[in-house]
Amino acid sequence: MWVDVLVERICEERSAPYVVNDAWTPSGPAHVGSLRGVILHDAVARGLRERGYPVEFLYGFDDFDPLDGIPPSVPEEAYRPHMGKPLCDVPWHEGDARSFADHFAGEFESVFRAVGCEPQTYRTSHLYRSGAFDPALRTALDRAAEIVAIEREITGSRRAERHPVQVLCEACGRIGTTVVLGWDGQQVTYECRPYKVTWAQGCGHRGRRVPFRGGAKLAYRTEWAAKWALFGVKVEGAGKDHMTRGGSHDTASAVARRIFGVEVPFPIPYEFFLLGGKKMASSRGGVGARELLQVLRPELVRFLVVRAYYRTAIDFDPSGDAIPRLYDEYDRAAAAYFGQLPARTPGEVQDVRDLARTFHYAWLKPTPPQPFVRPRFSKVAFWVQMPHVRVEEQVEREKGGPLTDADREELGARVEDARRWLEKWAPSHYRIAVREAVPAECADLTAAQRELLARLADHLEGAALEPEVVQAAIHTLKAELGLSAKEAFGAVYVAFLGKDSGPQAGALLATLGREFVVRRLREASGRQPVGHGV
Ligand SMILES: [Zn+2]
Repeated sequence: MWVDVLVERICEERSAPYVVNDAWTPSGPAHVGSLRGVILHDAVARGLRERGYPVEFLYGFDDFDPLDGIPPSVPEEAYRPHMGKPLCDVPWHEGDARSFADHFAGEFESVFRAVGCEPQTYRTSHLYRSGAFDPALRTALDRAAEIVAIEREITGSRRAERHPVQVLCEACGRIGTTVVLGWDGQQVTYECRPYKVTWAQGCGHRGRRVPFRGGAKLAYRTEWAAKWALFGVKVEGAGKDHMTRGGSHDTASAVARRIFGVEVPFPIPYEFFLLGGKKMASSRGGVGARELLQVLRPELVRFLVVRAYYRTAIDFDPSGDAIPRLYDEYDRAAAAYFGQLPARTPGEVQDVRDLARTFHYAWLKPTPPQPFVRPRFSKVAFWVQMPHVRVEEQVEREKGGPLTDADREELGARVEDARRWLEKWAPSHYRIAVREAVPAECADLTAAQRELLARLADHLEGAALEPEVVQAAIHTLKAELGLSAKEAFGAVYVAFLGKDSGPQAGALLATLGREFVVRRLREASGRQPVGHGV
């Protein structure tokens, strides 16, 4: 299993104690790709802890970055005047969140906590304003020429600034618009330029200030390296867009080694995570991590991320059969975990072991789960649509005994997911509506199909109305009458649903009650019961 392979390599290539770090700029709603990052780091931290090592899992909100764009979900006019200010200094336009950064950081934190990720969070603005970053700032200013040379060498760009530092303008509060003109070892001289960037306008102020305790920030790549040095980070992944040759990770690595004299954390370049489907793509601004939790329960979100090798792109389209299929895979992994999946050949043994580990890393809590019943998702989706069915009774019947607390908790989550799926995503053939009166579509049934319905009615009048019994009866009649399976079962579906496909016919009829089933079969066949004559 890939997490275990990564953990093993980390143990070989980096020494304990392990600081695992991940970070994100709260400049709008978090994308699902950022969620992949947190889950991946959380799984690695869990794997390292299990080997008995001390592990610190940190998650940084880079809230001292400037506001350089306005997400479509907020009123543009409220934020236009704040463009270029640090995200932590931009007031949120409503409610009680203290700042723009706090709003989006809080929102994302609640999402990743919901999927069982428990990092210790920090804010980059606090690292600056508390003075924790002051030594790194001094180093960056003293050795600015070397850092600029590194940046030019790695990226091949001539455009690097003369100082890898941005000053907070004392006149307008912007940080994205300033350039450093000089550094005398105590203070920086700077200018707030109207046209330095296209997304914000500086005020034109020229000044001198102490850059420490929040007076300035390191440029992005230098800041990344400075964090590694400050926290002693040993493991940090990033989306593959950061990990290209000559990209930001290469630059940060060179600055870390040559300027701060620290080892580069074990890198994990991971692939994209996209949510597909027409419904999702049409929502303005793309699909956020928060929306994913409205599609899948937390365990399945985590499973979706963990089961995919980290260098494989995830493109999840919740429409069609994707969610029932994901549930079936989740159940298979759970069966492997609980030792309920047979394996004979060495290859199968390995597969089962990998599946069990996948389930282990997908489980929300670090404590192991109690075994629980796993009624198939498509069945639960069927049961919740049947008016007279008590889902819990069906599951008890399948299990052959009373449900435990763990069973009930799992079932509750499945029922909720099934209802949501049926409402939003399920293809029409999963939606079942038993017609109150004989469907008009019955007029199209053939004589042989009518005969099958009539004989089925006679048979079920005296037989147990169990799914298997009904199913076997339809198969027998199908053979007797020389019908195909599609014709035979299609007739039953048309009689109850008015369409020629549906869930397992035996299960459908068993839930509807004998009196109704027999009456409907007779009505749809157009025949009177034997002995009643016309
Ligand atoms: Zn200014």
